[in-house]
Amino acid sequence: MAVALITGASQGIGACIAKRLAKDGFDVAINHYPNESGREKALEVAKECEAFGVKAVCFAADVSKMADCEEMVKAVKEQLGSIDALVNNAGITKDKLLARMSEDEYDAVIAINQKSIFNMLKNVCPVMMKQKHGRIVNIASVAGLYGNPGQINYSASKGAVISMTKTVAKEYGRKNITCNAVAPGFIHTPMTDVLADDYKEKMLEAVAMRRYGEPEEVASVVSFLVSEDSSYVTGQVIEISGGLSM
Ligand code: NAP
Repeated sequence: MAVALITGASQGIGACIAKRLAKDGFDVAINHYPNESGREKALEVAKECEAFGVKAVCFAADVSKMADCEEMVKAVKEQLGSIDALVNNAGITKDKLLARMSEDEYDAVIAINQKSIFNMLKNVCPVMMKQKHGRIVNIASVAGLYGNPGQINYSASKGAVISMTKTVAKEYGRKNITCNAVAPGFIHTPMTDVLADDYKEKMLEAVAMRRYGEPEEVASVVSFLVSEDSSYVTGQVIEISGGLSM
């Protein structure tokens, strides 16, 4: 059975991707932040994944820490046997205009959204090299493509995710490992639920489809990118934004 490891999969888009890949027939490794509430939410996601008749195991790790990622990847290999697909999804926001943003707020977002990708790739790429096969999908954002006021930290981190995706695609293409990114726009999740209603309304004016996306609509594109159907697609960024920009 092929195995997919999804980071930050205790809620939102990550949880939805885990369930979709379980439905597709992957055994799933569900990463969650190492605390009690993360564990509880991840166990619920695992239960829903198992309903599709696959194995689902939860792994605690703070993906901004190299040692945590190293240990997690080792444990996934030991318990599930391989890592065929990696979805780097964990992410946070700490939004403020540049003038008000602290250095700590900048550094925290870079550590979790950007450095985490390096930590995961360092540990998972050698596993995929040995297997002579691998699919990597990084969750970027439209903010990484176009920038967004109030998100200099987040935009920088997601812009880096896009350039890291292209670099890995170039370095590992000949090893039969593909690496692509998706760039969601405004998706209904706990991350966007906290935004002010008037801001959410205003944002929709720029969306051709005039609605928020659902996490399932991100998961279905990820499902394609980890499947054999995308075997000649690498180094690409697929925008999932209802036509935010064209
Ligand atoms: P979310 O609901 O806040 O989920 C983020 C997940 O990441 C949570 O499970 C969180 O766990 C986990 N996480 C945070 N820090 C972590 C760490 N250091 N180690 C391990 N896990 C960690 O957000 P979402 O909306 O689903 O976002 C998922 C991804 O999509 C993110 O990369 C985000 O930037 C991207 N994205 C989202 C949107 C959108 O509109 N929602 C748009 C574009 C891109 P805890 O809750 O336990 O901390």
